[in-house]
Formats: sequence, structure tokens, C-alpha cells
Amino acid sequence: MKAAAGAVAAKGGGGVGEAVHHGKCLCGAVTYRARGLADIWYCHCTQCRALTGHYLAACRTTHDRLDVDGDVVWARHSGTSEHARCAACGSLLFWTNRQTDTISVLPGSLDSTQGIAERGHIYLSERGGYYAISDGLPQFATYPDEGLSA
Ligand SMILES: [Zn+2]
Ligand SMILES: [Zn+2]
Repeated sequence: MKAAAGAVAAKGGGGVGEAVHHGKCLCGAVTYRARGLADIWYCHCTQCRALTGHYLAACRTTHDRLDVDGDVVWARHSGTSEHARCAACGSLLFWTNRQTDTISVLPGSLDSTQGIAERGHIYLSERGGYYAISDGLPQFATYPDEGLSA
């Protein structure tokens, strides 16, 4: 991660060495620009599986580093957790917990995932029974002790 971030900065990208990623929904009505995206975590919790139809892939940044153009519709799916879809085509684009200052981009909507790696799987305690996970990434019953920011 450190080496990848350095390589991006060395190319003369924007800002203070943070990589910039662009993304869009299926129909193109919503586009976004995200800075400082973290690596991808896969969440297998019951909520994420119901929301996505499988399991969630998410890479986090903070609200102030995400710029969105176009109409998105936010919906609350539990307590303080909310997700956003394109108002036109329904693509699932963002996920956030309002108790935090972070927002996750769903990486399937990214134009490029250059510099973003896969980190692991969380909430295996609630995983679906119909699939195997054989990618060799770390797996956690809930969250890793050190959190997801590492
Ligand atoms: Zn759309
Ligand atoms: Zn989840």
C-alpha cells in the first residue's frame, strides 16, 4: 500500500499524493470523483447480502473527499447505515454509516481500480451458504481487531 501510494504520487497526480479515482453508474447519469480510496473489503453480513444480492465490495474514503455529480437517492437500511443508488438506473454506488465520517464506494462502479488492492473478508459469521471463498485473502468472523483502516 505504501509503495503503491508513492508510485501514484510520483506520477504527478493531484493534491497531496492522494490518488484520484473516477466512477459512474450504469447509465452514466451519476459520475463521481474520489480521493484517497482505501483497499477493498468484502462484507458478508446479512444486511450487505440482502442489499446487493450477493456480498458487498467496498473501499472507503471520507465524505469530504468524494465529489458526486448527478442525482442519487439515499435510503436507510438499518439504524445509521445508508446506501445510495443512481436515481435513474438504480446502480448501487455508495454506502455509509452516519455515525462515522467515512463513505464507501462500491468498486464495481470505478472506471479503474489501479492502485487499489483487495484486503479481505469480514462478517464471515453471517455469510451465505451457497458460495466458497478461495481467494486466499484474510477472513474474519466480524472485524479484524485493528479495524479496517490498516
Ligand atoms: Zn445511472
Ligand atoms: Zn455488511
